[in-house]
Amino acid sequence: MPELPEVEHVKRGIEPYVTGQQIIDVTFSDKVIAGKDVGKETIIKGISLDAFKTHSIGYTIQSVTRRSKYILFILKYDAGERILISHLGMAGGFFVAQDVEDIVIPNYRKHWHVIFHLDNGLKLIYSDIRRFGEIRNVAQLSEYPSIIEIAPEPFTDEAEAHYLSQFSHKKFQKMPIKQMILEHRVIAGCGNIYACEALFDARINPHTIAGTLSIAQRQKVFQSVVKVLKMGIENGGTSISDYVHADGQRGTMQNNLKVYKQKTCSNCGNDIVTAIIGGRNTHYCEHCQC
Ligand SMILES: [Zn+2]
Repeated sequence: MPELPEVEHVKRGIEPYVTGQQIIDVTFSDKVIAGKDVGKETIIKGISLDAFKTHSIGYTIQSVTRRSKYILFILKYDAGERILISHLGMAGGFFVAQDVEDIVIPNYRKHWHVIFHLDNGLKLIYSDIRRFGEIRNVAQLSEYPSIIEIAPEPFTDEAEAHYLSQFSHKKFQKMPIKQMILEHRVIAGCGNIYACEALFDARINPHTIAGTLSIAQRQKVFQSVVKVLKMGIENGGTSISDYVHADGQRGTMQNNLKVYKQKTCSNCGNDIVTAIIGGRNTHYCEHCQC
């Protein structure tokens, strides 16, 4: 699943080509249309396809931003504003191309679902092999509460204080730290890969009950999350499954992983252990993380 660094790269890949462009048409795939017809919210959520078109066509993409694992497109039309909120799900991706046929990877070429036709002649294409992704079209963010509850971006000044304050919640106090840092109300955008890597970096066992960590350990976990997310961005994200950039290039963070799906610990040489914590596969070194 794309995590913060991967989503950041998707955003950076499309941003220069779509910013300032007017949307002149929107096309949906047969799967999206058929899904809506039977009441399934395939990709396009919370709005009819006709209304989605009405609130997109003629609008100009003023800016593209990332919030946690969401990509937001701010649309302007005279005095009106709409926001496209998109989530890539398990394996979605945005591509900018002259045509769908120009998408290099066959699976993404085949599984396109939404095309925004831009007035510069390019197409902004959303492809999703598994169709777990989504695109919403709202007048304001408050129409989609789950984006409002997300913690501050991890690289902002207020993020650490926000994270530390979450330890006062009983619910989080009793959780393994690994499960707690996956909550987007606690830290924005830290998914499974980066949570495993951060706890190795902090040398903290992922099973440790959050409430038992010292203040220094809590701070160390946060600093390690920020460190591995930054490393992920610098390396173009992790390409373990289907993930590719908007230009079809792959990230190289998978070559820098210390524990996630690794066999032996690069620090001590012991086997990396796998456990399920909060329903998610967790990889760690029992010797280095205690
Ligand atoms: Zn080790």
